[in-house]
Amino acid sequence: MGGLSVDPTTFFRSDGKRVSGRAVDELRPVKIEAHVLENAPGSCYLEWGKNKIVAAVFGPRECHPRHQQRQDRAVVRATYNMNAFSVEDRKRPGLDRRSQEISKVVSEALAAVVLTAPFPRTAIDVYMEVLQADAGTRCAALTAAAVAVADAGIPMTELVAAVASGKVGGTVVLDLDKYEDNAGEADLPMGITSRTHRVVLMQMDGNFTTEQYHQALDYNFAAAGVLHEKQRDALRSRYQTVAARQPQEGGAEAEDPGASSEEE
Ligand code: ADP
Repeated sequence: MGGLSVDPTTFFRSDGKRVSGRAVDELRPVKIEAHVLENAPGSCYLEWGKNKIVAAVFGPRECHPRHQQRQDRAVVRATYNMNAFSVEDRKRPGLDRRSQEISKVVSEALAAVVLTAPFPRTAIDVYMEVLQADAGTRCAALTAAAVAVADAGIPMTELVAAVASGKVGGTVVLDLDKYEDNAGEADLPMGITSRTHRVVLMQMDGNFTTEQYHQALDYNFAAAGVLHEKQRDALRSRYQTVAARQPQEGGAEAEDPGASSEEE
């Protein structure tokens, strides 16, 4: 930290930056890759700071148990799981109340952007595995899941990305890491769609003043725009790879799909 002093009671350095060196409105580095799994029609690997998440998507496929079927649409079933080795102390494996809650809110957020009406009586299953956790995993999981759904070729009206702002030492900051989350006074995770900017996931822990709440909203909307672009980039790279593999007329492989389509 280049000799800058850190006051352990405030979470901020003498230059106003956070202990991690980030500005108050700065995201952790985010990397997204689409289609990382051979055996799933849609998948995504996402790194967000120290968070590492894999998402896989199957369907639309016959919905079992049948009582979950809907006659007029597909049901979106997201399952969030934190691996036993994803946190410092081993996490007890299996579905706990927190995983169930996150699975539910992510299912609802995805159902808001997936076109379910063309696939009655089916299920779209989305699995999110947290390999490494460092706070903000529900947001990272939803962001990865949306890319995996698109990668599976399931029609969507738009993408969705999620991000949280919180409060440490009385100051609103974007994207709390675990160090900040441990002593965070408030947390506002939001899922925001890419085209109509709808809020499809919103939860809140702790208290904000009205002013702090509006600041957190502003940070989240701005950061969601950055995440949407990273999601699009991941999907673009994936489809450029697919296009490069498509045999052209006459059997030759395309060498530069981006260049050839622009020239036409
Ligand atoms: P989110 O990951 O969406 O921020 P929480 O606020 O519930 O969700 O959790 C914050 C962080 O606390 C997680 O990202 C993870 O690093 C840690 N954590 C959550 N549950 C456990 C657990 N059962 N054991 C150890 N650490 C956990």
